[in-house]
Amino acid sequence: MSSIAGTHVRPRDAAAVAEVLRARLGRVRLHGSGSRQQRLEPVPGALALDLTGLATIDRLDAPDQTCSVDCGVTRAQLDDALRPHRLELPCPGDGTLGGLFASDPIGAAAPGGQSPRSLLLGMDALLADGTPFKSGARVVKSVAGFDVHKLLVGSEGRLFVATRLHLRLKPLPRARVAFANQALDREAALRLLQQLRELPHGLQSLQLLRVAGGGGGWNVRGAIAGRANFVAATLRALSLQESDAHPVLHLEAPAGGEVLAGLALPSALPRLLAGLPTDAPFLWHGGGRFETTLPVANATDRALAALASAGGHARIVAAAIGRRGLGTPIDAGHRSIADRLKHALDPHDVLC
Ligand SMILES: Cc1cc2nc3c(=O)[nH]c(=O)nc-3n(C[C@H](O)[C@H](O)[C@H](O)COP(=O)(O)OP(=O)(O)OC[C@H]3O[C@@H](n4cnc5c(N)ncnc54)[C@H](O)[C@@H]3O)c2cc1C
Repeated sequence: MSSIAGTHVRPRDAAAVAEVLRARLGRVRLHGSGSRQQRLEPVPGALALDLTGLATIDRLDAPDQTCSVDCGVTRAQLDDALRPHRLELPCPGDGTLGGLFASDPIGAAAPGGQSPRSLLLGMDALLADGTPFKSGARVVKSVAGFDVHKLLVGSEGRLFVATRLHLRLKPLPRARVAFANQALDREAALRLLQQLRELPHGLQSLQLLRVAGGGGGWNVRGAIAGRANFVAATLRALSLQESDAHPVLHLEAPAGGEVLAGLALPSALPRLLAGLPTDAPFLWHGGGRFETTLPVANATDRALAALASAGGHARIVAAAIGRRGLGTPIDAGHRSIADRLKHALDPHDVLC
């Protein structure tokens, strides 16, 4: 183990992580680069188990388009290693790969696109008591049995510690052009979104965005990929404006306000948007995930009611303690299975 300072520990490899867990030091909060920690409930006295010391790209098999990476490898580190092979991890997200897959805050960038769930082929992991286990495979060909590794996606560090991830990669497209059509009214934006969703192929990412201070106007952004002449023809046909702006992955949490995050299918968007204040920042990714920031609690409650009536789901991810975690109703059966799963994998509720 390389450093221990107070309640923070940063092991260098999986064996050292197992040693920390076997020492039973009380409750443990897993940390990647830490970007989402302020959205989790604080647990006083919990040991911060920092996984950024596990940072080796163990295997990069370019012909098979797969790789195996330690959980603390960052997205930027992996992108740099893949670029010379003209490969990419085709899903949005930042931070460490362990944190990205465990929190899955964005899902797919485009309708029907790849997401952490579809890109995770397998993993090496540790139970809360330090017991090591493996699930899935290092390569695309899978093995029989439950895909236990898929439980990592969205587990937010509460089920087990994924120490190594086996990932599917994709070739970089021949051409990819980003576009951003700005300052649209709501109907024009939703119409363009629909036209883009109807493209038979080539749509790599899609976003509907309203930023703070943008006068209430809507931006439809994304990227088209494929052969250069196909990309150019698609941009022309839909009057898409080329743009070099970077994709927006998250909204800034407002001082004193709340952030609501969830899932809304395109058919739910008109009702959801009608239930928001006219200047509320809003970001929707083509796979269906959205975030919105609201200035006061009763605006959040109105948005939740609009979303529930449109069949969407959301919960408050940033707010005063006591409001965090509230959201649209969760099916009682689903909740019971999630509780039982947590109990089976971490019976002493160590991981928090
Ligand atoms: C500069 C920056 C800004 C960001 N802003 C936002 C934002 O505003 N909103 C937002 O939603 N996301 C934000 N992200 C998150 C981001 O896009 C990632 O998807 C990812 O969630 C964060 O990874 P992390 O390494 O910071 O993880 P952390 O924030 O440290 O951890 C995320 C979750 O994963 C768990 N976890 C971490 N590693 C493991 C592991 N190996 N096994 C099991 N569980 C694990 C943690 O316990 C935690 O619950 C931001 C990231 C960056 C780099």
